Amino acid sequence: MLELFFLGSGSRGNALLIGWGQTRLLLDCGLSARELKRRAAGLGQDLDRVEAVLITHEHADHVAGLAGLAAQAGRTVFCTPKTARSVYFGKRCRADRCEVVPGRAFSVGPIEVCAFPTSHDARDPVGYRFGLPDGTRLGVATDLGFLNPEAADALAGCDYLGLESNHDLAMLRDGPYPWVLKQRIRSERGHLSNPDAADALERLASDRLRQLFALHLSQTNNTPAHARASLQQRLDQLGLRAGLQVVGQDQPLRFPASGQLRLV
Ligand SMILES: [Zn+2]
Ligand SMILES: [Zn+2]
Repeated sequence: MLELFFLGSGSRGNALLIGWGQTRLLLDCGLSARELKRRAAGLGQDLDRVEAVLITHEHADHVAGLAGLAAQAGRTVFCTPKTARSVYFGKRCRADRCEVVPGRAFSVGPIEVCAFPTSHDARDPVGYRFGLPDGTRLGVATDLGFLNPEAADALAGCDYLGLESNHDLAMLRDGPYPWVLKQRIRSERGHLSNPDAADALERLASDRLRQLFALHLSQTNNTPAHARASLQQRLDQLGLRAGLQVVGQDQPLRFPASGQLRLV
């Protein structure tokens, strides 16, 4: 059964622990290794068991804990070659490194993993799709200025979807950020707004979609209520009955919630 442990999501740190049986892989590690370990433990998870760390891009909110995590032997760090040249693996790196090529699938235990390119102001940003042994698919994409065709193809028809819903347009427009930063966020290499994410659902969501996670919300330019309202309205318009959860920066979240053994 798929288990997801969102350890943090937002511009102060992103990390998602993905579990299937005994397999544990970590998608991004944007908090210190110590803090990631503490948050994982709070959800009953031992971060030492992570066998693979997948990196989307080199921004600190995605790799801050990499050196700490890479110090442990017996695990593999996956990222594209350009991203590998842009991140710090640490002086005591004992992890294996493996190059990711977008579109070329690989396996971590029973999970099939495939990266796809995203549009963001990083060297070589990617998102990831996960094929699970029961035939379901999980797709995760944050930090993208728009839904590029490769991302749309990779994410369409997923059963579980984690999608950036970064900012409310009016809050960003009227908020305290300098104009240059506002332009960067709104650019095609910036971040998806709430309505951008809702529009993306038209391409991505099908009646296979069981659960949608709103990710990477701005703490300055968005609220969970804004993101939720925008996405729920579009799910309703599309006639989809998927669950919707908004993931916060500092509230680790487990899916399914403990005690909820099977999805209906
Ligand atoms: Zn980010
Ligand atoms: Zn970024």
